[in-house]
Amino acid sequence: MSARDDGSPRPVETWLTDMDGVLVHEEVPIPGATEFIEALKESGLRFLVLTNNSIFTPRDLRARLLASGIDVPEEAIWTSALATAQFLADQRPHGSAYVVGEAGLTTALHDIGYVMTDRNPDYVVLGETRTYSFESITRAIRLIDDGARFIATNPDASGPSHAGKLPATGSVAALIRTATGRSPYFIGKPNPLMMRSALNRLEAHSETTVMIGDRMETDIISGLEAGLRTVLVTTGSTRPEDIEHFPYRATRVVDSIADLVEFVKAPSLSVDG
Ligand SMILES: [Mg+2]
Repeated sequence: MSARDDGSPRPVETWLTDMDGVLVHEEVPIPGATEFIEALKESGLRFLVLTNNSIFTPRDLRARLLASGIDVPEEAIWTSALATAQFLADQRPHGSAYVVGEAGLTTALHDIGYVMTDRNPDYVVLGETRTYSFESITRAIRLIDDGARFIATNPDASGPSHAGKLPATGSVAALIRTATGRSPYFIGKPNPLMMRSALNRLEAHSETTVMIGDRMETDIISGLEAGLRTVLVTTGSTRPEDIEHFPYRATRVVDSIADLVEFVKAPSLSVDG
């Protein structure tokens, strides 16, 4: 899929990269991340930083990355909230939704012309929040029972924090699914829709794009299923000793994002190795 007719690999024109575990560990920058983003900006190549987290707006995330010394333009950040909004805009333009989530999600839905309502909405849209309330979950359950379609930004069951594990969107989705008997449609990784919407946003093509991630069962599988070349870094979730147990492979495995700076600076180097 990434080779020309003569068998040589296609040049890389677009880079997609996961955020947590690749560029940062929560707020701590991973060595090489700043250099990688600076190299991308200098190269003129198109790129997006992807995250399944739907709490924050791209502006919030830019500020958080900048505090870690990584200067990513707001337009170069693609969240599961933005992908969800794009999906809804395509499926049912100018619809309505009852939202359980934070500004990252409500802003994205407002921006595509959606109305937020708890009266007969087209959709219940569930995202990440740190303040899930019994009242709003109950409302979501009743609206789904009454016919609202159930969408969730991402299937992650838990997320990291300094104090330990935090329940995430996937866990709350399981609660609502159990109560209603209706499963949500999840937009974020590992759904390759997350990659396809990112490519559309850049007007980029799968065969000239590389996806970088730290997790085989989300980043690498969704990149693979969207037809991209993939690079696994071992600074995050998937440990080196586990890589060979997966029934699919990344195009390349590297120790960290620092190893990819040269690939951006010298397009003649091929990630196909
Ligand atoms: Mg990650």
